[in-house]
Amino acid sequence: MAFLPGSTIGVIGGGQLGRMLALEARRMDYRVLVLDPGEDAPAAQVADGHVRAPLDDVDAARELARRSDVITLEWENADAAMVRAVEEIAPVRPGAHVLEIAQHRVREKDAVSRLGIPTAPYRAVDSLGDLERALAELGTPAVLKTARGGYDGKGQRVLRDASEAAEAFQELGGGELILEGFVDFRLEASVVCARGPDGEVAAFPVVENIHERGILDFTIAPARVTEAVARRAREIGEALVEGLDVVGLLAVELFVGHDGALFVNELAPRPHNSGHYTWEACSVSQFEQQLRAVCGLPLGRAELLRPACMANLLGEHLSTPSGLSGLIETLALPLVSLHLYGKREARRGRKMGHLTALADTPDEAFRRAERARDLLCGTDSRA
Ligand code: AMP
Repeated sequence: MAFLPGSTIGVIGGGQLGRMLALEARRMDYRVLVLDPGEDAPAAQVADGHVRAPLDDVDAARELARRSDVITLEWENADAAMVRAVEEIAPVRPGAHVLEIAQHRVREKDAVSRLGIPTAPYRAVDSLGDLERALAELGTPAVLKTARGGYDGKGQRVLRDASEAAEAFQELGGGELILEGFVDFRLEASVVCARGPDGEVAAFPVVENIHERGILDFTIAPARVTEAVARRAREIGEALVEGLDVVGLLAVELFVGHDGALFVNELAPRPHNSGHYTWEACSVSQFEQQLRAVCGLPLGRAELLRPACMANLLGEHLSTPSGLSGLIETLALPLVSLHLYGKREARRGRKMGHLTALADTPDEAFRRAERARDLLCGTDSRA
């Protein structure tokens, strides 16, 4: 059964991903109800309704479910027990079984490996003894991460030498950790895949991600990789979305080795920052695709219409006195669009908005996006 326009989509989480989903949903005449504790949450600003409560409040989530036809999420750390309780009232897509995997790096890597898909070598670490053994087996450098709750490079530390074990173990909270072998990658890539309730699958193009201090800075579409690597990355995305029985979206972050080998780093069962470019550059945006998948509509073709580059706008890009000073000049550039998320307070590292530049080649799109952000933020040396 498909949920048709006029149905209500409940969204767990009210950040920018929910906001962009809500904008697309409303364009197609769906109602949107957001669960989020923030009074002025980015998604709530554009939704039809707002259940204002913490994301582990079971009663509030039940209320969301009673008032919704189908539920999706924009934040994968929603309490899995809460999501299970909600599943009794309305379908939740993707379901709690996917969240339980994506919330825990060890379970995530176990699930990916079981499907025969490569990851960095890894060991679960629950004691200092585990860490010392894991370091002996995997060698250094290695990356120690918290199994839960890390994002944007937080909750992790690179170990250059086994002598750093005790200090790093303490620093990261002393338990529920994972040690990963260090992957000497050429670039980082990602692919967003959608799957409908009837098993239809569609992968967006593989894109290239450039990070700054652990936070996504630019996404270049398509990734500057060979056709064979691009094909293999999409196959991995499709195998994961099927193998994990995802209904909705699954974003797969990948390391691309110097020889083109691919390793899955992380999964996110929701729209992804690296998929924002789809809004302008693809035949369907990742947000419309999420809507189509969770509502049981035919998926869009997820085709790239034009090379593109997305530049994130973080708090530090906008909080200078000249922040947004170049708005008029930026919008005068050809093929550049601006998205702002409605966040009032510009903190360092906080995602405030993004720019997307289109061009004839990925390199040109990258240059255009860099120039647009420089202009927008008043940091342009050539202006
Ligand atoms: P994550 O939170 O797992 O996405 O990691 C944040 C960033 O740290 C990644 O985007 C990589 O740049 C780097 N990183 C994470 N894990 C590894 C690894 N096993 N080997 C090399 N670099 C890594």
